[in-house]
Amino acid sequence: MHIEETRRTDPELAALVDEELARQEACIEMIASESIVPIPVMEMSGSIFTNKTLEGLPGARYQAGAEIADKLERLAWERAKALFGAEHVNIQSYSGSSANHSVFAAILEPGDKILSMRLDQGGHLTHGSPANWLSKFYHHVFYGVGEDGRIDYDALEKIAREEKPKLIICGASSYPRLIDYERIAKIAADCGAYSMCDMAHVAGLVAAKVIPSPIPYFDFVSSSTTKTFCSGRAGMVFCKEKYAKLLDRGTFPGSLGSIHLQTMAAKCWSFKYAASQEFHDLMVQVVKNAQFLAAELQKHGFDIVSGGTDNHLMVVDLRNKGVTGRQMQDALDKAGISVNKQVVPFDEAKPHITSGIRIGLTAVTERGIREPELVKIADMISRVTDAPEDEAVLAQVKKEAEELMKNFPLYPASFTCH
Ligand SMILES: *Cc1c(COP(=O)(O)O)cnc(C)c1O
Repeated sequence: MHIEETRRTDPELAALVDEELARQEACIEMIASESIVPIPVMEMSGSIFTNKTLEGLPGARYQAGAEIADKLERLAWERAKALFGAEHVNIQSYSGSSANHSVFAAILEPGDKILSMRLDQGGHLTHGSPANWLSKFYHHVFYGVGEDGRIDYDALEKIAREEKPKLIICGASSYPRLIDYERIAKIAADCGAYSMCDMAHVAGLVAAKVIPSPIPYFDFVSSSTTKTFCSGRAGMVFCKEKYAKLLDRGTFPGSLGSIHLQTMAAKCWSFKYAASQEFHDLMVQVVKNAQFLAAELQKHGFDIVSGGTDNHLMVVDLRNKGVTGRQMQDALDKAGISVNKQVVPFDEAKPHITSGIRIGLTAVTERGIREPELVKIADMISRVTDAPEDEAVLAQVKKEAEELMKNFPLYPASFTCH
């Protein structure tokens, strides 16, 4: 990583980069929203484009000196639309959260009703959590999952009919199953609502055509570009051509200021890379690894919500193991395995405690972890679960985790040793 000038001028800060690199190298990273960006994404995120202030769209900018940026944004548009088979895209969003806000700004008025998935059953903070400030401006109603851990589509349809929302949102942060996009989009159309899918977690799997795409069905499809898409920290929104103007206005000036051209350049690179065989094979392996690890954990007596996974993540319900989510997050962290605590459907525990953990496979799969290593990792997780307070066990597992990950470098040494 090229941080020579930072090292010279601010050794204290450079040391934090070194520490974080060492932490990432040593750790079995299984937070489902994380991925390791390819080197060109990092190059573009730190590129010269960061110096340019620009607002508006290509051909209609508010500042001079936009010719090259116009080429960049048009190239990114063409690649993104081709990759996802979309009619229109706006790639100015700073993140998945701001992508969602752009859609709200495009089509909603204060007081409008939104039907979305409950946060504690898989939804996202930006879909109507009272903790998110935007929720104050809308009226929120929610659907959820049934006893089987899968979305209760009949209940969703009934709520939609009764409540007549202006917008129906699907897409989630901790839902391990495929979503019946066609059905949800039809329910929205039948009750006169706009439909939106937030594919933040699964955009990489969608781009690689490893799971079905929501793009043909929904008026709007928003996304983060981190997570399985493995790109820069930013967002994007696709929509039907008839909503293009609304979306563009909802993005700027509706909800954002000047463009982050450097992350737009990173996204532009990823729109090309995501069409490659290499990325396809990676995404296939991510799902294979997730399904394999879920089955391994089941052999150790873990209760996997909904009985398994169709994507890159799983939710483990720890109630039969006598540990809480928070306890496991902390214990696994000490043991060199990074996960996050997670509310499980019908959880009685408080949100800062929880009864589960969420495990994602993107980052470890990128590093080369395959089935033989996952057998070991499942065993490590099981040993930590059986003795979450036993410092000797945690230290032993941490040693094994570090040994294991030494064989799977984060980046080539030539890149990380500057
Ligand atoms: C992560 C996530 C977001 C937010 O994305 P950021 O890029 O972190 O802002 C939005 N929606 C869903 C479903 C997510 O999982």
